[in-house]
Amino acid sequence: MINVTNIERFVTHDGPGIRTTLFLKGCPLFCPWCANPETQSVKSTMFHNAVRCVGCRLCERACPHQAITFAQGNFTYREDRCQRCGACEQVCLQDAIAFQGKEMTLEAIMAELCRDRDYYENSGGGITFSGGEPFVQQEALWELLRACKQEGFHTAVETTGNYSSDLLIRMMPLIDLFLFDFKHPDDTILHTVTGADGALIKENLRYLLKVDPQKVIVRIPVIPGFNYEKDTLESALRYLKSIGVCEVNLLPYHTLGKVKYEKMGKPYTLSNKMLQKEDLMCYLEYARQLGMQANIGG
Ligand code: SF4
Ligand code: SF4
Repeated sequence: MINVTNIERFVTHDGPGIRTTLFLKGCPLFCPWCANPETQSVKSTMFHNAVRCVGCRLCERACPHQAITFAQGNFTYREDRCQRCGACEQVCLQDAIAFQGKEMTLEAIMAELCRDRDYYENSGGGITFSGGEPFVQQEALWELLRACKQEGFHTAVETTGNYSSDLLIRMMPLIDLFLFDFKHPDDTILHTVTGADGALIKENLRYLLKVDPQKVIVRIPVIPGFNYEKDTLESALRYLKSIGVCEVNLLPYHTLGKVKYEKMGKPYTLSNKMLQKEDLMCYLEYARQLGMQANIGG
């Protein structure tokens, strides 16, 4: 079974043409700006909507594992005790509890992906695998990629690059486009903030560029207080140029995922102020001066 959080149809970003994006659960990183924090765990993740909740405590009584309590009258969820039985979700009359992530068979997923075959063919689109980090469910990804190739679909992967090189080499022939995240040029800072292994990510990126640079678009999520400062971002762009990156997309910081942190009972630690396109124009120009194709968004 494959744990999926969402299947989004008629997507016009994350690769060429009209696409379907499949969001797979699981990610080795914990980026504090993540717009899909519910995908970080490979297990299903509870969303609790405090606005809908009326405090009836039916969920507390239904839970056989004491994973829900109302300490000082506040809904409190213990994920370590939760067995994902779904009893709380079923009894809640307010629809205040919704688990994110459901197990699907390969066949069920492919049936969904095949629905828009005509759109892919007419627009030059296809399937994008996102997450989370799609490589975490590696056998599932392998089977899905093979099935997509049998259908003749273009395949793209949004990826952190944070996995073994052997895995990358195995998957690479089945992937037409890598949307490869590059977050910070300094491996120590990167590791402290996100948990990522910068040396491994750079090794994988260099490998991809050596084999087929046209398959790679690098994306930089631009985050104030992390990599937005001139020295850091220009250094990242110079590094990318030096290893042969042809195209880079700058993704302005946004807070669209913030409400999800509230539903997960997690603090949102970053600024509420989003970056605008104009805030990145100087870096767009810099990347172009270096000779790379560059865009904001994408
Ligand atoms: S059953 Fe639903 S409405 Fe009632 S306390 Fe639990 S989450 Fe809130
Ligand atoms: S899914 Fe089951 S174990 Fe988890 S909190 Fe709900 S009732 Fe308790």
